[in-house]
Amino acid sequence: MATIFQKIIDKEIPATIVFEDELCLAFKDINPQAPTHILLIPKKEIPTLDDLSQQDQNLMGHLLLQVPNIAKQVGLSKGYRTVINCKEYGGQEVYHLHIHILGGRLMKWPPG
Ligand code: 5GP
Repeated sequence: MATIFQKIIDKEIPATIVFEDELCLAFKDINPQAPTHILLIPKKEIPTLDDLSQQDQNLMGHLLLQVPNIAKQVGLSKGYRTVINCKEYGGQEVYHLHIHILGGRLMKWPPG
């Protein structure tokens, strides 16, 4: 069954998209945990970090390289936090790989 993020990729449900290219999509999180909370996802359906294969090397490099561009675009000049939750103990809820980009406030460490 398609995840909610696949439906966003397919434009079946709306999202506030801040960046899109042929390989990835970035949009605002519906339940933001910081003043700015963006989700960056590959368009390829990859459920979790554990499902990556060698074939995904260029794709994941591409995704990571978009992070500073997107952060700049949304005004996170003071810095930001990136998070990838993986499976149950990582707190992952949506099983389509995504990078959280959080900013606009001072982040604490360690995370909860
Ligand atoms: P996870 O816990 O899987 O790392 O993060 C999933 C994120 O997706 C959560 O921060 C949640 O708020 C966000 N989310 C869940 N459903 C939707 C949705 O329909 N639209 C958007 N924009 N974000 C969603």
